[in-house]
Amino acid sequence: MPDYGHVIDGVEVESRTGATFASIDPWTQEPWTQVALGDATDAARAVAAARRAFDDGPWPRLSYAERGAILHRLADLIEDHAGELAHADTRDMGKPVAQSRGNDVPRAAHNFRFFADHARLATAAALPMDDRHHVYTRFEPAGVVAAIAPWNFPLMLESWKIAPALAWGNTVVLKPAEDTPISATLLARLASDAGLPPGVLNVVHGYGPDSAGQALTQHPCVNRITFTGESATGRTIARAAAPNLTPLSLELGGKGANLVFADADLGNAVDWSVRAAFTNAGQICLAGSRLFVQQEVFDEFLDRFVVAAETLVIGDPKDPATQFGPLASRAHHRKVFSYLNSIEGEGGTIRTGGPGDGWIVRPTIITGLRPDARHSREEIFGPLVTVIPFSTEEEAVALANDTHFGLNAMLFTDDLSRAHRIAARLDAGTVWVNCFFVRDLRAPFGGVGDSGIGREGGNYSRDFFTEPKAVVIQL
Ligand code: NAD
Repeated sequence: MPDYGHVIDGVEVESRTGATFASIDPWTQEPWTQVALGDATDAARAVAAARRAFDDGPWPRLSYAERGAILHRLADLIEDHAGELAHADTRDMGKPVAQSRGNDVPRAAHNFRFFADHARLATAAALPMDDRHHVYTRFEPAGVVAAIAPWNFPLMLESWKIAPALAWGNTVVLKPAEDTPISATLLARLASDAGLPPGVLNVVHGYGPDSAGQALTQHPCVNRITFTGESATGRTIARAAAPNLTPLSLELGGKGANLVFADADLGNAVDWSVRAAFTNAGQICLAGSRLFVQQEVFDEFLDRFVVAAETLVIGDPKDPATQFGPLASRAHHRKVFSYLNSIEGEGGTIRTGGPGDGWIVRPTIITGLRPDARHSREEIFGPLVTVIPFSTEEEAVALANDTHFGLNAMLFTDDLSRAHRIAARLDAGTVWVNCFFVRDLRAPFGGVGDSGIGREGGNYSRDFFTEPKAVVIQL
């Protein structure tokens, strides 16, 4: 048995074949633990367990309050085991422990608490029609949910999918990313301790293509697929789901625009822009990787932005003082490095940054690139940000919208009318004004264009993870 197994029907098991794979610590570049390597057979076992738990088990038939109590207990256990969970994500992907312990794990617990309460309070809508009829809505659980997650916020993004799916009475098969498997098994162990019945939350490890991931997306007994990952993978999954007409929620890539106007509080804009570009070593779908700064303040902003980027503490992600760690894997480092190597050939200048030790790429600020250069258009998913000047509001909006992606945008201005005017014109699922990353879980979250299909959050998650049913009554 490897250190971390699949969790199927409430039991931690190895793969049918006995296959395992190593999880690599990006700081040491060495394996740090062994994990069960699943395939289509293991995925089918997990789906069968989830199906049984849904069709015959208590979970979908419990009251919202009963399910909510168990999910709150799970949130308590996540908080009690915060150190272990944070350590797992930090070793799996090199995320500084200050972030995994300070942000990701508390947010995972909050996701369970929020959706436990939301489901209890948002269960029905009654619509009186006339003297003789009324109609009400029941939100029936959809069934078996396949949740396929990326590696950049492992536990946090997995809980963003699992919490609403469970709160609304579904059963789940989670496939974490192959680079970050450990916190998923830890979560399933805690779920069992919290009183989740067997088969309600299953975890199967493995890869995507020709492996456990693909098998889940093609399985006819899966009723919903919630996927977060690359846009190209989203397209593949949509094709795999089509023969079964399985409904999909796709949260995909991004190339966030960040507009800084001359009237903005520059200190605030610099502060948020550093976080938007370099948190998690830039491995954020929401990263503000295209920065557009109004001509009048371009030089001043750039100077301050460079200084702020250079103060980030780079080092061992296990050290609580570290703010910036290595990229998540050898393959990803190679990809980001190739963008780094081609900056000057494309006419760009590196103002600060460049290669670091091991799999580190230092916070890199680039000027002189055209808006249509590939660094400005493709999702690099690393700590590279292009800074480009603009003159007018019209030009800023055109630059921001000149992308296939549309997950998010940011703008910094002290002109309230301008803020509303531009927010309305930006093609993005979320627009942040004078801030970044601030979330309310009731709000819609998702993207336009290549950034995805559908929205999750609050009632949007409810509508995806249930079959809303109208019951019309004649009195
Ligand atoms: P990825 O698409 O390579 O992999 C994501 C998951 O999909 C992994 O678990 C992988 O094993 C699985 N997978 C891959 N191919 C599959 C297939 N054919 N069938 C089924 N499963 C398959 O993405 P990644 O590199 O892990 O994550 C980075 C990407 O995720 C970036 O593009 C980033 O922008 C995006 N992302 C988006 C959001 C969002 O909310 N929109 C959030 C985080 C990350």
